[in-house]
Amino acid sequence: MSVAASAKLNKTVKQQYLDLPQGDEVQATYVWIDGSGEGLRSKTRTLDWELKSLQETNLRDGCRRIMSLVEKEHPWFGMEQEYTLLDCDRHPFGWPRNGFPGPQGPYYCGVGADKAYGRDAVEAHYRACLYAGVKICGTNAEVMPAQWEFQVGPCEGVAMGDHLWMARYILHRVCEDFGLIASFDPKPIPGNWNGAGCHTNFSTQDMRQEGGLKVIEAAIERLAKRHHYHIRAYDPKGGRDNARRLTGHHETSKIDQFSAGLADRGSSIRIPQAVGEEQKGYFEDRRPSANCDPYIVTEALVRTCLLKEEGEEPADYSQ
Ligand code: ADP
Ligand code: MN
Ligand code: MN
Ligand code: MN
Repeated sequence: MSVAASAKLNKTVKQQYLDLPQGDEVQATYVWIDGSGEGLRSKTRTLDWELKSLQETNLRDGCRRIMSLVEKEHPWFGMEQEYTLLDCDRHPFGWPRNGFPGPQGPYYCGVGADKAYGRDAVEAHYRACLYAGVKICGTNAEVMPAQWEFQVGPCEGVAMGDHLWMARYILHRVCEDFGLIASFDPKPIPGNWNGAGCHTNFSTQDMRQEGGLKVIEAAIERLAKRHHYHIRAYDPKGGRDNARRLTGHHETSKIDQFSAGLADRGSSIRIPQAVGEEQKGYFEDRRPSANCDPYIVTEALVRTCLLKEEGEEPADYSQ
């Protein structure tokens, strides 16, 4: 029996049961991040008791605490989640069994059966996220065939982690129905194939207002001094996962060098072209890996850009 067996069960038969009236009972599915810091698990109960928090072991609480210190600055985040669709034997979906698809070029934002691999799952995921109230804001096919991206945001404070983790959970569930696996490995195929990141876009109220570009530049100066702290925070293995991806090729920067630039996709931090023109807006941190923990990434950005270097107090830019 192949591990994709459940995907082949008859979904029309299942629908008869899903349509049965449920009275006042509600099924509540509890989703949590497992001990690996990357995997998700879930279980379902009939809701007749109050849910108590079981999350002491994940990093949401620390993130929430740091965000509460900078509430007045209204930190917004938007994350671009890249991922790769795999068959159940972990072979990239739609790739030939012997050999490789044609070289990269036509696949990014591609249209057509020979360019877009697995769009059914992508569209189902988008709809399911909107239905669930997840703040998904876009999607596109990526540079490597069978690789995709969805964007979530803008979300304020700890909500970024909440929405991204839930979007990942929904992706795993949708893929389960299609007999696919969603992989967040930052470099699923070694060699001349793009890796998968989780670009994190960040702004504060001051950055979004008139003169915001100056505030963005000040934040980038602070980021430049804490490159290694961020690299340690940006994948679950403290930089080892991202070392396979941040090579300086395939629209990435080198893992051991900090760089920032306007409209530069080869830098650690990119100021989008439109932000340069309007002199306000947000910046993009291109370093986080596809399997990063968004609670840790957003917390690290706030600690470096908005808190005083040692103590956990908001920095005062008026001095
Ligand atoms: P890219 O050009 O890098 O591919 P995308 O369009 O994929 O950019 O993603 C842009 C992301 O930036 C989205 O997640 C969006 O929510 C986020 N974003 C837009 N404006 C802001 C802002 N002011 N602050 C923070 N994030 C923002
Ligand atoms: Mn993008
Ligand atoms: Mn992308
Ligand atoms: Mn991006």
